[in-house]
Amino acid sequence: VDFLRNLFSSTLGLGSADKVLDELTLDAVARYIKSGKCKNIICMVGAGISTSAGIPDFRSPGTGLYANLRKYDLPYPEAIFQIDYFKKHPEPFFALAKELYPGQFKPTICHYFMKLLKDKGHLRRCYTQNIDTLERVAGLEGEDLIEAHGTFYTSHCVSFCCRKEYNLDWMKDKIFSDDIPRCDKCNSLVKPDIVFFGENLPVRFFTSMKMDFPCCDLLIVMGTSLQVQPFAGLVGRYCRSSFIFLKTIADPLFGLLGFGGGMDFDSDKAYRDVAHISTCDEGCLALAELLGWKVRLYSMLIGGSFNSRKSPASCLSSLYAKLS
Ligand SMILES: [Zn+2]
Repeated sequence: VDFLRNLFSSTLGLGSADKVLDELTLDAVARYIKSGKCKNIICMVGAGISTSAGIPDFRSPGTGLYANLRKYDLPYPEAIFQIDYFKKHPEPFFALAKELYPGQFKPTICHYFMKLLKDKGHLRRCYTQNIDTLERVAGLEGEDLIEAHGTFYTSHCVSFCCRKEYNLDWMKDKIFSDDIPRCDKCNSLVKPDIVFFGENLPVRFFTSMKMDFPCCDLLIVMGTSLQVQPFAGLVGRYCRSSFIFLKTIADPLFGLLGFGGGMDFDSDKAYRDVAHISTCDEGCLALAELLGWKVRLYSMLIGGSFNSRKSPASCLSSLYAKLS
């Protein structure tokens, strides 16, 4: 009878068949991670984890990237990431790439927290929508990452017959000398491997998703309002527990997830999903503290230097204030 009840509850989402948290709080998430039962953590991250590094969010009105594109005289803002437009007019994309080039920004507390999850043996995978490569700068490697929207890390010739690969240094040279990058084999354009509108997501995104999610013990969602598919659809997949950072109760994510998005934070039947109201950096610091990892995280921050917007001194003092 118990078996049937559990089967029905889990398939129909009726109850707490697979309950792993004793309460829906940050402390309970920390206890679960420390229990030894939480071996496979998947992080899903978006632009919100990099805004504290000074990288503009694509969608924030006024300060967002799209709003800054007016000077390029595009037919419409998204055209800059449209593959057909790029092939005819590559200049605006490379001008923007120079402005936002990886390497000018430093990873945030949140990026280092994910590296710490890896070092402690908990990280199954990080699914990122970001193309800023800050996960790699923080020390995550190719196998730890699904860069769902591609990466600047490698580039390829756009000609289907050629597809010659170029590395980060080659592309960086071209971008900073204001040269439009062209293939030395066939003279076609060379484009960083970021996924443009009209291009498919990397195959690894789909194959890894099928392998990773069935054994996911904890899904940590940070800095994404989950508006872009198929990335957003990952949240509805099976996981034993989930933990979401929300900046405010009015965060669009709250409505999306709570209402038909497969998450339940506060109904009578809620048993799995925890929402934490804070910035991603503050949330990661708080969790690191509960896990007893704050000294380690702190030393990673010192070693890797702080996010670029604030001076190291002000970062240090605010970090001390949070840690004390
Ligand atoms: Zn070529």
